[in-house]
Amino acid sequence: MTLGSFRLLLLGAPGAGKGTITRKLRDVVPSLNSISSGDLLRREIQAETKLGSIASKYIDKGRLIPDELIISLVSNHISTLSQKGMGAQWLLDGFPRTLHQATALHDILEPRNQCLTHVVELVVPEEAILGRIETRYVHVPSGRVYNLSYNPPKVPGRDDVTGEPLEKRSDDNEETVKRRLKAYNEMAQPLRDFYGSRGLLHTASGDTSDIIFPKVLEALKK
Ligand code: AMP
Repeated sequence: MTLGSFRLLLLGAPGAGKGTITRKLRDVVPSLNSISSGDLLRREIQAETKLGSIASKYIDKGRLIPDELIISLVSNHISTLSQKGMGAQWLLDGFPRTLHQATALHDILEPRNQCLTHVVELVVPEEAILGRIETRYVHVPSGRVYNLSYNPPKVPGRDDVTGEPLEKRSDDNEETVKRRLKAYNEMAQPLRDFYGSRGLLHTASGDTSDIIFPKVLEALKK
């Protein structure tokens, strides 16, 4: 299937399947560049940088990193990518999460003629999310996500591509997830309003990523 050029923001609660949808999109668009703010932060933590040590204190409590820190991390990453050429299709996951971040992102992208073309919110019932997060594992360097119930690694505990160990995210426990879900529900409406008023917002809902993914593809054709 061919898709035109798109610059996509994926919105969705923690555990809504943003990482899985990204992987499925990459199967369709192998040159897809994806930027996940959570993955960038986890790499900073793994590399034991100063930013990583600040970030981990917020992440472990399920709280948002201060806007200025995350804006500068993502904007540096976008600058590095755009020097190499961002490609015709790319996506953002996990950023922006606040209105301030959304306007900062707009100010970064507009001068590059790279404003977002689509915003798709993944909508998954909360019971489905709580069930899947308990069995979720991640390969930190790549951001690849596994689930022991429906998408297990080929070798238990190891990444399929590199064979490196998988990790359980420190914030994937019920208490922190509930706090993150609450935070998502509070932050989502201003973003829906911001992107809805610009005619960019689409919704893709369902219990599983297999149900949601075709809806994401449909949205990208609009
Ligand atoms: P995620 O992998 O998107 O679920 O992000 C994991 C955690 O990283 C979040 O719970 C926040 O603590 C932090 N984080 C990721 N992206 C952002 C953002 N755009 N603004 C603030 N904090 C963020």
